[in-house]
Amino acid sequence: MALLQISEPGQAPDPHQHRLAAGIDLGTTNSLVATVRSGASEVIEDERGRALLPSVVRYCPDGTVAVGADALAQASTDPTNTVVSVKRLMGRGINDVQIDRAAYGLVDAPGMVRLRTRAGDKSPVEVSADILRTLRQRAEAALGGELNGVVITVPAYFDDAQRQATRDAGRLAGLEVLRLLNEPTAAALAYGLDNAAEGIYAVYDLGGGTFDVSILRLTKGVFEVVATGGDSALGGDDFDRRIVEWALRETGSSGANVEPGDWHESGDWRALLIEARRAKEVLSREPMTTFSVQLSGATRVRLPLTAERFEELTADLLARTINATRQALRDARLRVDEVKGVVLVGGSTRMPQVRRAVAGFFGKEPLSGIDPDQVVALGAATQANLLAGNRSAGDDWLLLDVIPLSLGIETMGGLVERIVYRNAAIPVSRAQEFTTFKDGQTALALHVVQGERDLVEDCRSLARFELRGIPKMGAGAARIRVTFQVDADGLLSVTAAELSSGVAASVAVKPSYGLSDEEIGAMLQSAHDSAGTDAQARALREQQVEAERLLEATNAALAEDGALLGADERTRIDQLLVKLAQARGGADAQAIRQAISTLSIGTEGFAARRMDRAVARALAGHGINEIGS
Ligand code: ADP
Ligand code: MG
Repeated sequence: MALLQISEPGQAPDPHQHRLAAGIDLGTTNSLVATVRSGASEVIEDERGRALLPSVVRYCPDGTVAVGADALAQASTDPTNTVVSVKRLMGRGINDVQIDRAAYGLVDAPGMVRLRTRAGDKSPVEVSADILRTLRQRAEAALGGELNGVVITVPAYFDDAQRQATRDAGRLAGLEVLRLLNEPTAAALAYGLDNAAEGIYAVYDLGGGTFDVSILRLTKGVFEVVATGGDSALGGDDFDRRIVEWALRETGSSGANVEPGDWHESGDWRALLIEARRAKEVLSREPMTTFSVQLSGATRVRLPLTAERFEELTADLLARTINATRQALRDARLRVDEVKGVVLVGGSTRMPQVRRAVAGFFGKEPLSGIDPDQVVALGAATQANLLAGNRSAGDDWLLLDVIPLSLGIETMGGLVERIVYRNAAIPVSRAQEFTTFKDGQTALALHVVQGERDLVEDCRSLARFELRGIPKMGAGAARIRVTFQVDADGLLSVTAAELSSGVAASVAVKPSYGLSDEEIGAMLQSAHDSAGTDAQARALREQQVEAERLLEATNAALAEDGALLGADERTRIDQLLVKLAQARGGADAQAIRQAISTLSIGTEGFAARRMDRAVARALAGHGINEIGS
């Protein structure tokens, strides 16, 4: 390096180098990746100019994995090996999954379901990781380097298990997940609401698979999410399904050589859904369309559908979103007229009846200037950029989130004692004291639960742990402090301590959604193994290029200023050059690095003399007075 500095003194690596960061909207239907370039957020398109990556993964017969449009194209011909809407399965047990149950071979694994594919049983975490890997490659190709970190968005309604599953998917895809961010919060950032007038804002997000509503309070440039609500099983897909059900009713489904069970397996069901979605999207801009599907066998379904009829068929779905919006406002103890602005997010907000209903409910036109498909990824990108350390002056706002569901512990009689209430701002730490109920009790079993119900059996069990070694005391004498801490991602750790003796126990709540630590470990290991091979290959190439550059620069310097060296010095440098040339030809990145370093050090004296000579030449012929004037 020393040699180069002669000609270009400013080339030292910049310690404030821009770090590559991206925001990822890992959607049920579509996923996107965005980044901040020259101060502005932009969505990164694939090599064919497409921004949306359909969240569809196909395990192909040739052993490859197809992600996106190519996979979607095979959804109806190869349904059991083509996974759509996997986000609905994240962190979910088989009993939590109400829809599309028959669409795949769902395998009941403890905690989280698996999908039976020709590539083996896949956890939803692995399928999501395949989507994330595709976005990562897209981003790295566009940005020309490895991502330093990402922010992945999740529905505000996601519980602990779903968040943890998302984070694991990121790790599995080789991403440094800087933070999970609620989607509506990301959308508010994209609209720059952090610079808007102080007050209350609502974000209404109707996507393909989820509905989220968030109530945000903006004070002095600081965001606080004061309430979240919604329905993690309501979205545009449900509108599609209504059209299919209508079409089957209209045709009496008699002509179809399919029984309800068969549709799921035959692929006809998928074909009907795809056509329903197309029809729905057309009806967002035209008053009518024709619903037309060729089913397997000779059956053809062909029906006219008007926007008006479609609105009737789905009115109750829309009403459910408005009810959830009302509930979120109630949670925030706010009146509708206190809301200053409303943001629309999600492709389904393109439906005119949705816009009308939202405007009607809030009594004002919602903001919709940014593409509702992209707004979440764009906001996540700004957050990722900040978290990666690319801060500029003035970028010092703080973002607060809330936890979506209350957290508590089980007490006597199967009751729940809530410790952190839903909608508490995170990060949060809350403690509560308990006592023993038996004389001489030396151990206490703690059961951590999540949910709004009073009975443990109605809540979700998150973890169990024990506090042992409590000194023998009379019932009620021990003082046990239980502390709940929720970090910025909404992930929980719980500590219990007996105050007089100081004995303590804790758990980081890793929800038991079915992947054991060993399984995650093995999945990470295999990801690391291939990531490791990739990284090694890249490191070697980088060192070879660097070696080449240094060899050339040194030889050029020797040709020009070789006269500045004594014979011994020259011999020494020649030896170092030979060593570096040899190392460069090999495959040991470390050896090349070493040889580069020795040559750089070995030529420092030479470089200094060249510098002096260059300065002397520059000065030659000039009067001293001219210099610096
Ligand atoms: P998600 O966040 O669930 O991944 P998106 O925000 O990408 O979903 O929204 C996808 C949904 O938006 C799909 O149900 C799709 O049919 C719907 N959608 C997209 N464009 C339109 C449109 N023009 N009219 C109605 N629905 C639309
Ligand atoms: Mg979305």
